[in-house]
Amino acid sequence: MRNMSKDKYPERAIRCLDHGFIRLVDSMGGDDAIVQAARVSYGKGTTKVSRDRALIRYLMRHGHTTPFEMVELKFHCKIPIFVARQWVRHRTANINEYSLRYSEARDEFYIPERGDIHFQSKFNVQGRDTTEAPESLKDKVIAYFKEMSDRSFKMYSELNEAGIARELARAILPVNIYTEWYWKNDLHNIFHFLQLRMDNHAQYEIRVYANAMAELVKSIAPIAYKAFEDYVINGMRFSRFEKSLLSKRLPESALEDILEDIAYKIVATLHRSKPRSETELYELYQKNGGNDSQTDFDLKWAASEIEAGNVFELREIQRKLIELK
Ligand SMILES: Cc1cc2nc3c(=O)[nH]c(=O)nc-3n(C[C@H](O)[C@H](O)[C@H](O)COP(=O)(O)OP(=O)(O)OC[C@H]3O[C@@H](n4cnc5c(N)ncnc54)[C@H](O)[C@@H]3O)c2cc1C
Repeated sequence: MRNMSKDKYPERAIRCLDHGFIRLVDSMGGDDAIVQAARVSYGKGTTKVSRDRALIRYLMRHGHTTPFEMVELKFHCKIPIFVARQWVRHRTANINEYSLRYSEARDEFYIPERGDIHFQSKFNVQGRDTTEAPESLKDKVIAYFKEMSDRSFKMYSELNEAGIARELARAILPVNIYTEWYWKNDLHNIFHFLQLRMDNHAQYEIRVYANAMAELVKSIAPIAYKAFEDYVINGMRFSRFEKSLLSKRLPESALEDILEDIAYKIVATLHRSKPRSETELYELYQKNGGNDSQTDFDLKWAASEIEAGNVFELREIQRKLIELK
């Protein structure tokens, strides 16, 4: 019988895996601190939220990372040791871990859920296949995990009771035993951690924690998190080879169509922030690379609601596409 502690989950902890959790213990700053650092001498509340948002997104887009380092988050995590082993590779964090030299180990071991027991992937040498193992094999996996956890814990307890030093006795415990730590890092490095550990290539068990951490980060710096999602998680970079393939293979007409859309979007955005007269609009469109005739422009402008965006960003895409042509 496992002797689980009664208050297993602290308040507001997000439960992860079978016995683990992550919770936010403390934080310093948020979106405001990023903006404040970027503007150095400006105080909180002196600029509009929309401008702050644009600034944060600009910083993220261009890899201006130091303002994100002004935000700090401290987490309390309970994780299996094999997950901690991967997590600890992120060297910029400050960590304080539960000591098995000082305290006794607790009888809490990670046993995988049936649905998470898969075959080795044939394509990703480090990962799991999408196919689940057959039920009989799953039974065996779970039985082995349980048997090994129970047996090692019994041996550990026996050595402990016999007075063997805890620092030695602990070495008999397997890596699916849970440990706990406080993990503190700045937002820039947390984003780096999340980028690597929320990714499909990361091990399933650490992804569970990374996804939970992302929720906590979102609550502290929502604008920065959205920018991270838009430009890093859902963004894409092309290598020289990929770029040359695109420029060779993408039909000119497709690029022209996208450039046309962008020219319309730029006009819509500029018009939204400073409304222009009808005659000025076509001129503005031409200045921003639009090639449609005045009649086509008038028709499209009148017919559809053109989505506005961020002018700087739109001009950046425009430059990239022209480079591809
Ligand atoms: C899917 C996946 C598979 C992996 N497989 C393996 C594996 O098979 N074997 C293995 O050993 N590791 C493996 N790793 C770990 C990986 O190599 C990195 O150690 C880990 O992801 C931490 O990344 P990092 O060094 O960028 O992060 P951090 O240590 O958090 O560092 C953040 C950034 O700070 C800078 N930095 C930190 N310390 C230094 C330093 N001393 N010198 C210079 N710059 C520094 C770097 O720019 C670094 O990117 C794997 C990671 C992932 C996500």
